[in-house]
Amino acid sequence: MTPMPQRDASADYPLTLGEDPAFCPACGQALVERVLEEDHRPRLVCPDGHVTWRNPRVVVGTLPVRDGRVFLARRSIEPAVGRWTYPGGYLEVGEAAQEGARRETEEETRLLVEVGRLIGAYSRPSAGVVTLVYEAAVVGGEALPGVETAEVRAFGPDEIPWSELAFTTAESALRDWVASLPGRGPRHVPELYVTGDPPEEPGETPG
Ligand SMILES: [Zn+2]
Repeated sequence: MTPMPQRDASADYPLTLGEDPAFCPACGQALVERVLEEDHRPRLVCPDGHVTWRNPRVVVGTLPVRDGRVFLARRSIEPAVGRWTYPGGYLEVGEAAQEGARRETEEETRLLVEVGRLIGAYSRPSAGVVTLVYEAAVVGGEALPGVETAEVRAFGPDEIPWSELAFTTAESALRDWVASLPGRGPRHVPELYVTGDPPEEPGETPG
């Protein structure tokens, strides 16, 4: 098994939702925390009953692959400046996950990609995000640094800069990608059930 980095730069990453808002976005009155009927935790509610929902955000990204090598981008901004990660960013309203992943990849690496299979869905409750990472086939473009990127480089499965990765999700997604390649392992199971137990698969033994 490839050694994994001990340092997690994402620990310095602020909660992406920011501070709780003080005023109702719908009517401008002050918000108070209140548990709604048949609900299970406090919500931000104004005197008129408008609820300001606070939910995790969706981040989408790709592992762009050509000739068995994966392109990573070295970050030019904080957090984790100078470290490597896959191209990715926040999903926009009105955008499908795969569209967002393709857009972020083209913005950050100038690579044109066709988005393929899901590598994994990674929950980071402390940061308030869920990240979807897809494998993508490079179909054009040129690997050049785009926005927020200092350098773009392709790495073989045995060349991944594990100790210089930016975020936990980069480590997890690359680990899962390497495990999914022929002759590698352990068996790749997309991390789709991160908030609960995966369904039982009778007759299988761990490992
Ligand atoms: Zn209101």
